[in-house]
Amino acid sequence: MDSTLIHQITLPTPFPVGDVHVYLINDDMKVLVDCGCKTEKDYNRLQQHLNEIGFSFDDIDQLWLTHSHPDHSGLAARLQKEHGVKVGIHQTELRYMQKNQFIDRFGEWFRKHHVPEHLIQAMDGGRVWYQSYYDNLRPDFLVKDKQKLSTGNNTFTVHHLPGHAPGHVAFFSNGSIISGDVLLEKITSNAILTFEHDTPKRVRSLCQQRDSLEFMKNLDGTVYPGHGNTFDNPGEVAEAHLNSHEVRYTQVVNAVKLGEGSLFEITKRVLPQVEQPAITFLCLSEVIGFLDLSIDRKDVDFDSDRNVFVKL
Ligand SMILES: [Zn+2]
Ligand SMILES: [Zn+2]
Repeated sequence: MDSTLIHQITLPTPFPVGDVHVYLINDDMKVLVDCGCKTEKDYNRLQQHLNEIGFSFDDIDQLWLTHSHPDHSGLAARLQKEHGVKVGIHQTELRYMQKNQFIDRFGEWFRKHHVPEHLIQAMDGGRVWYQSYYDNLRPDFLVKDKQKLSTGNNTFTVHHLPGHAPGHVAFFSNGSIISGDVLLEKITSNAILTFEHDTPKRVRSLCQQRDSLEFMKNLDGTVYPGHGNTFDNPGEVAEAHLNSHEVRYTQVVNAVKLGEGSLFEITKRVLPQVEQPAITFLCLSEVIGFLDLSIDRKDVDFDSDRNVFVKL
């Protein structure tokens, strides 16, 4: 692949993950993949980087979003409105780009799982803060699994790889993979707790993520990720993440062996830091994913009358 085709642009974020990478595909069409947070700082930095390689926002034809998280999609609505950029995203991800989705459902679900009220309130506050980094978006087009997107001289294939986010996609072309957060070299990206976009059910995020990692175990090519280094061994990286899951899995199952408990009680045994309001949500996300897996593997059962997890 022509090495001048994909330009990496790095932008700051206010989130614990640190900087985010977005990419300019410089073909006949100019396509941005992801765009950074809705901050003046990211807007100005992105503009400056584009200027340095000879472009302005008005030269950008399309913006392809890997997923709805604001470090990747935050500026989308502004680029669409002010610069006429046409924005595409997977249909499943659409609802997550509208603010205040599932607020009642989250509260109800956390109460059922014995999360203390002050932490539920803190998570609601955290969500308001998080939502300040994007605007509601109505995309110009939807992308779907296996779809081919031409940029002129090159064709990218969309792959739907859910887990970290339900409608997460990556863009594949000739051995290059622009992958958002679906595969990072050093971090096992969290399979975020959320609800299905079209039913009241919770998404089995970790199980989805594991299916995506199983698919990526067989990949070759260069990965251009949303965070961290570019790398050339996606298969090995995917396998290492799957293996690291087994360590956490054993911790979670052992925690249930100590005695039945609610999600919050089991999480406290594995990750005592769940009581720090800033990370409560991520800790609960992590543990519920492994509890889903432990139920699939018949190591644990969920007693839905008492809302506790029990050892089988
Ligand atoms: Zn993300
Ligand atoms: Zn990210």
